[in-house]
Amino acid sequence: MIISINILLIIKSLFHLNTLLRLSDKLPLTCSRKGTCCHGNQVMLNPWELHRLAFEKQISAREFRDLYCDWNGILLKFNGEKDHRGKSACSQYIANFGCSLHDGRPLACRLFPIGRQIQNETIHYIFQGQTFPCLNGCPEVEDLPQVTVADYLIGQQTELFEHAQDAYLELMQNLAEIALMLLLDTGLDSTFDVYIRQEWQKVGVESPGLIAKRIDEKWLDYLILPAIQFDSKNPKSFIAAHELLLQEQAQFQIDKFTTKKEIAEFSIQMMSMALFVGKSIGADIDALSKMWSEVAE
Ligand code: SF4
Ligand code: SF4
Repeated sequence: MIISINILLIIKSLFHLNTLLRLSDKLPLTCSRKGTCCHGNQVMLNPWELHRLAFEKQISAREFRDLYCDWNGILLKFNGEKDHRGKSACSQYIANFGCSLHDGRPLACRLFPIGRQIQNETIHYIFQGQTFPCLNGCPEVEDLPQVTVADYLIGQQTELFEHAQDAYLELMQNLAEIALMLLLDTGLDSTFDVYIRQEWQKVGVESPGLIAKRIDEKWLDYLILPAIQFDSKNPKSFIAAHELLLQEQAQFQIDKFTTKKEIAEFSIQMMSMALFVGKSIGADIDALSKMWSEVAE
């Protein structure tokens, strides 16, 4: 079974499945560097993390996506050598060395075994299940020094990566708002109203591969491979420019529409883009698509 090491971003409570942590909690968070969690896992990437990894690899984000990612750039490939458990290594893992892109590793990898949940705008740190995850594969961590959650986050330099996660959450919401605004622009004609909301909800249960197929290639590039000059070490300017690019291109496109059908189809595409970004940051997109459909109703 694949255990996701993605950050959990949810709008419904899953706390009963997880262990809620306080920043002062001391845990066996000294890594034994066996690489267990770099095998057989699932690591999602937001667009800035994809660019950050590509910078570290010294190739373009497009090349990194094509060579090392699935789902159009939001999932790292785990297609390396298998470990003793038969689980494949991350495409960036080097046996007897570790992560080849350590400085650029994404938030999910920095946080593991901790997860991050955002619920009602409050951030919670958790670990999945009731048993400390590292004990499954690296039981020796019990003999290594314990560290508080707060010190662990500082040591892993998560701050900018957490900022990127939060900024993409906001970008996702802004794309969904464009979709909502377009729904209103159809004049609340019942044919389009029902059709658009049904499609939104269908997107919420589709795989990222299928969602990507709903998005024009040009828009997938705007979403995942935006042509932005950026400071590779700082997500703030990158995501601000990314947001602006998407807003400007959307407005440019909307200005050209002449029929309700065009508006309706673009509303579905904007929601697909919002949910695709949502998937890249580990959001519960099924719940989100239902919520936005209810808001529209
Ligand atoms: S499972 Fe835990 S101890 Fe083992 S390599 Fe990963 S972070 Fe380190
Ligand atoms: S990016 Fe690096 S730390 Fe993350 S799973 Fe891959 S090899 Fe491990």
